[in-house]
Amino acid sequence: MALIVQKYGGTSVATIERIKAVADRVIATRAQGHQVIVVVSAMSGETDRLLKLAKEITDLPDPRELDVILTTGEQVTIGLLSIVLQNRHCPARSYTGFQVKILTDEAYNKARILSIDDHRIRADLSQDRVVVVAGFQGVDAEGNITTLGRGGSDTTAVALAAALKADECQIYTDVDGVYTTDPRIVPEARRLDRICFEEMLEMASLGSKVLQIRSVEFASKYNVPLRVLSSFTEGQGTLIAPEDNRMEQALISGIAFNRDEAKLTLLGVPDKPGLAYQILALIADANIEIDMIIQNVGADGHTDFTFTVHRNEFKKALGILQQQAPSLGVQEVRGDDRIAKISVVGVGMRSHAGIASTLFKALAAEGINIQMISTSEIKISVVVDEKYLELGVRTLHSAFHLEQATA
Ligand code: ADP
Ligand code: ASP
Ligand code: MG
Repeated sequence: MALIVQKYGGTSVATIERIKAVADRVIATRAQGHQVIVVVSAMSGETDRLLKLAKEITDLPDPRELDVILTTGEQVTIGLLSIVLQNRHCPARSYTGFQVKILTDEAYNKARILSIDDHRIRADLSQDRVVVVAGFQGVDAEGNITTLGRGGSDTTAVALAAALKADECQIYTDVDGVYTTDPRIVPEARRLDRICFEEMLEMASLGSKVLQIRSVEFASKYNVPLRVLSSFTEGQGTLIAPEDNRMEQALISGIAFNRDEAKLTLLGVPDKPGLAYQILALIADANIEIDMIIQNVGADGHTDFTFTVHRNEFKKALGILQQQAPSLGVQEVRGDDRIAKISVVGVGMRSHAGIASTLFKALAAEGINIQMISTSEIKISVVVDEKYLELGVRTLHSAFHLEQATA
């Protein structure tokens, strides 16, 4: 007998019919003799609908009240699934994050899980019940309701699997695994049988929204066997697991992309110590996170400085820089929020040269100009004009032959 955590995302619980299909799978898993904890998301579109309602009142709703609103989506699906299971004579009981209790820090809208009280869940499992837990939510030490950020139900599932030492955490979604890139952009994308934690972490943090990044961090830290599968079809899905040195590594495992960033450039920055610090401190003081940074070689006592921020924070960052430019001696501030970042990821890159030149050659052949570059041991990211995003991803997918399986 194994303990299995199954998480079903929004499209997998979008209608009563889909919820019945989830119940079928849960019951089949139990019939194999396993104990099951189910984590569900809100019905597809519900979180967006709730967010929109709050934003009809104000652009910046109070974060605490926003979490009170957003958590209702998941509360509906846990109740619905539990009723469906009970109607099929499968004992089931639902819990909100608060009831479990999934303790988080107090960072509304992006809270982190600190601990999970497992005693009610264990008691239910020992009484042969299916436990249905609301994803994406928790409660802080003061009893305030919190949410874990978009896509947070993945993290609820992995955290529960870690806390209860489950044998596997299965993430059921609308694709049958993790692909070489988003199959919605590249139809030739190929499902990976296996991807290592490190690569999945990069893919998630560079924009592949198939798993929330924190869920991968948790799985890697606590060694939770994690699998992404389709709730619509049968199959093995993709196993996310520690790096396997026995296998011949593909050079590149996948391509991630992100159109949520914007670029800020300062021209004619005095080339003297402390300037980069002064500029970035202005941004950090406004609680804006910075992603890529480039500084050019100085000439005539001046240099140029470019960095990227989340597109939501673009206007705020631009305003701050424009206001402060004269006092910093900066000649001009430019902004561009029509950019996209494309990243190739693979642990095989560690031991192979030439990946960057293949990448640059392929983009050049399509006339795609590279605006920024950043590299790490297992990834290369480039910023390009947003209009080239899809062409760029497709071009690189074929340049690295990702549609072909490696031996
Ligand atoms: P859920 O609602 O089940 O959590 P998500 O929409 O969050 O589902 O995640 C699944 C989606 O992730 C897929 O429909 C797909 O478009 C997208 N996606 C992005 N990158 C990848 C990738 N590399 N492999 C698979 N899916 C990806
Ligand atoms: N319902 C939340 C969202 O849409 C959490 C999740 O589905 O993982 O982001
Ligand atoms: Mg998701």
